Amino acid sequence: MPSRSSDARRRYVGWSGIAAAAAAVVVGCTSTPAPPPVAAGRSPLYSQLVQEVSGAGALTHAEALQQIGDRNGGNRATPGPGYDASVDYVAGVLRDAGFDVSTPSFVLRQRRGGETVVRNVIAQTRTGSAEHVIMAGAHLDSVPEGPGINDNASGVATLLEVATRMGSSPPIPNVVRFGFWGAEERNLNGSKAYVESLSDSRREAIGLYLNLDMVASPNAGYFVQGGADPPGSRSGPPGSATVGRVLVDELAANGIVADLVKFDGESDYAAFVDADIPSGGVLAGDANKKTPEQADRWGGRAGEVFDACYHSACDRIETLDRTALDKFSNAVAGTIARFAESAEVPAR
Ligand SMILES: [Zn+2]
Repeated sequence: MPSRSSDARRRYVGWSGIAAAAAAVVVGCTSTPAPPPVAAGRSPLYSQLVQEVSGAGALTHAEALQQIGDRNGGNRATPGPGYDASVDYVAGVLRDAGFDVSTPSFVLRQRRGGETVVRNVIAQTRTGSAEHVIMAGAHLDSVPEGPGINDNASGVATLLEVATRMGSSPPIPNVVRFGFWGAEERNLNGSKAYVESLSDSRREAIGLYLNLDMVASPNAGYFVQGGADPPGSRSGPPGSATVGRVLVDELAANGIVADLVKFDGESDYAAFVDADIPSGGVLAGDANKKTPEQADRWGGRAGEVFDACYHSACDRIETLDRTALDKFSNAVAGTIARFAESAEVPAR
């Protein structure tokens, strides 16, 4: 668990449009409801993405990652051959789709002493201004106990589906950048190393970070992390309410009434939150139990955990909730399209 310190926060410089829109939302809650800060997209890109992106498309990538686990001792943990093969798969898919792909490495301290070098995967569109970056990420590693298909091949597969349907050169004003993190299951090392590697200007160019970690839990729930009022370290830096609101909107467009929850520091958004980057996340639930009210709203089994295979060998392709994968894929696609095209983001 990363320790969090509010005094480590840096002054928020860029992307004041998103922060200002979030402030308007907070005010709106006490009087009349504010209009959505980022208009619901009806652009050609938005329409195309929400139409084409599907859970079935994401599932093909999850299946590939399952096979990688099967061929490498049943896991994709960092460090290890299953993780390395996962990096090669993701980088290959994105290179084939024309993205600008890199695999920056970081040093991971081994449990029994010594160090090893681990790669993240970073890919971005060739269109859009590099001063205005929309970032979405998912951890690419599993625990050693299993292949990690809900946790978190599901998040990786969703981003690969969105990226390949969007293509590497969509007509967008803002760059869309995807991050696939190593060693999340080892104290969030990959995402921390990435954020630490950024210069001030490159960090400030990131307008927001959207995290996907477990989006097809077998007894699925629909949680949006961050953006809860009032603003604070556990609800994210200013601007996070906007990210959360758009995610909630896009899930609603898929017939889902999501629960908005605070950040708990247990996934890769933590490094971005600590760097004062507006953030949001989606999650279908882990080892907590579904309440009767949630089962009424979302279906599934009340009183049972969201993912009975969490961090175990049965976290396999067969257990995924394909409906949840489909709805989250669609909602994430719509969210990324809306922010990629947002005209409310001012030039810095
Ligand atoms: Zn995870």
